[in-house]
Amino acid sequence: MDIVHLLPDHVANQIAAGEVIQRPASCLKELVENSLDAGATNIQIIVRDAGRTLLQVIDNGKGMSQTDARMAFERHATSKISRVEDLFSLRTMGFRGEALASICAVAQVEMTTRREEDEVGVRLEIDGSKLIEQEACACPVGTSLKVKNLFYNVPVRRKFLKTDQTELRNLLTEFYHIVLVYPRVQFTFVHNDEILFDLPIGNEKQRIESIFGKSNTRQFTSNLIDLNTDTELVSIRGFVSKPEACGKNAQQYFFVNGRFMRHPYFHKAILNAYAGMLPNDYSPSYFIYFDITPEAIDVNIHPTKTEIKFADEQTIFQILLASVREAIGKFSLVPTIDFDRSGAIEMPVRTSPNTQGTPTRPSLPHIQVDPNYNPFHAKQTAPKNWNQLYPDRPISDESSTAQASLYEHDIPIGTPYQYAERYILLPTTEGLLIINQHRAHICIEYEALLQQLREQKGVSQQLLFQEVVELTADEMAVMETILQDLRAIGFAIDQFSKTSYGISGVPAQLPQSDAVMVVRDILHSVIETGADAAQKWQEQIALSMARNTAIPYGKVLTKDEMQDLCTRLLSMKTYSRTPDGKRVLTLLSNSEIENRI
Ligand code: ADP
Ligand code: MG
Repeated sequence: MDIVHLLPDHVANQIAAGEVIQRPASCLKELVENSLDAGATNIQIIVRDAGRTLLQVIDNGKGMSQTDARMAFERHATSKISRVEDLFSLRTMGFRGEALASICAVAQVEMTTRREEDEVGVRLEIDGSKLIEQEACACPVGTSLKVKNLFYNVPVRRKFLKTDQTELRNLLTEFYHIVLVYPRVQFTFVHNDEILFDLPIGNEKQRIESIFGKSNTRQFTSNLIDLNTDTELVSIRGFVSKPEACGKNAQQYFFVNGRFMRHPYFHKAILNAYAGMLPNDYSPSYFIYFDITPEAIDVNIHPTKTEIKFADEQTIFQILLASVREAIGKFSLVPTIDFDRSGAIEMPVRTSPNTQGTPTRPSLPHIQVDPNYNPFHAKQTAPKNWNQLYPDRPISDESSTAQASLYEHDIPIGTPYQYAERYILLPTTEGLLIINQHRAHICIEYEALLQQLREQKGVSQQLLFQEVVELTADEMAVMETILQDLRAIGFAIDQFSKTSYGISGVPAQLPQSDAVMVVRDILHSVIETGADAAQKWQEQIALSMARNTAIPYGKVLTKDEMQDLCTRLLSMKTYSRTPDGKRVLTLLSNSEIENRI
């Protein structure tokens, strides 16, 4: 018996769906792109349970005829290309004719649509690729597509969906990617009956403001400089941060011919333009819109991929770099900031987000005293086998008895010295240990904070006046998730309004003035890493708190403080790198020193 046969359509569609529709966000992207391709100027998005139970897109586009409406759900049915050559001159968002077929293979779909020239529209109901009902109906011009119970017939996929908060965040990310390039289209986004966005028609800058403006006291876009370069090869428009407005929570977006894209190489061009102007972990926000002839980019990309290849990347890199440099230069903002205080040693300075470009020194938190620390036991000693625990060879999982034994051998260490207000030089029997003071303290604080999170024992200090932090919709969602943990480490924080939280107390080790900034920093580090398991986001919280409270560079330390820091560091389980992988210390061994001199 022959055993090779063609797959039934609904099976083939379900397999294809796995590629195109991975989560509610990819479904939203396809539906909204179809609406835009249909020339809609008003698009409403209605979501329930982060898209699990309902995802509806209503547009006022050109609609479909009865026959087209039925055809649209077939695989490779598209009105957008008909010849292979068309692929290379593509200006529409969709073209593969796969999206609707894929969606209806894994959901219950209901569509109503009408063209202007038709008296009545048509209503279709499709359930797992099967047409259930088709009837004439009265409806407005345009198309409404309801996707219900996504993955109801693919339990494995359903199981792979993350928490509602994460899926909502994914939906909003996709939403931002689209609405930022279509400021002349009105969008609303409703989640569980709550209007999260109602974006009026405007220009690009107004659109950026209406999305990101909320979370800042100053106008977000007043911190942006215009960019405008036209060459034969490419036109580059958009906005970049003023150098003094750069920070840790930058919004970074590239678009090409109306499509969001990721481009690590072009990202580097932008960072290069700011080289030397920003403290270490600061970066600029940017919204860059490339316009280029479609022949010069590879359009036949996978529908879910956002990386795009350009024919002449190096030249565009140079044009972009020059263009951003020029934009920054025009505002002659460059010379006003001089971060380099002591020549060869790099001294990062933090600009407070509230001041207009005046670099301020971070306020100095003092070293927290560990009540369990016994100075008579540990002072002037280093763990016996610390040189084995040494960088790049972090000890695996030492048992607690091994840990205790570290203290029991008195290996003399010398007097610590501070160098460049940045390093601690610690003579040991093995050689000279060079310790980065800020990173060392991050390691110590991080462990302590994780402990507080586990035991819910953070100590809070009352703020004189409550601080209010305004949040965007996706920030609100994350805030809900991590609220208990923020309280566990000492934040007194409660919801203040629909879009804000009030902070009335902060962890004891945190300078009061930093409350809002640190809460924001924590939120963003959780968002950026996409942490959606409690343990993961607790690690992010601990890390961003530790970064904000650790001894800064530039702080002069007393001998006692240095000894305390060294002993605590070297008695930790792993200390060669910070939790995010930065090197904490290095050893200049005795033999290395002898070889040199
Ligand atoms: P593609 O967008 O790649 O052509 P889709 O499966 O997404 O494929 O859509 C199939 C066809 O259905 C489109 O080519 C278009 O003609 C029609 N269509 C889909 N959505 C809409 C809409 N909102 N308004 C008008 N026509 C639409
Ligand atoms: Mg499409």
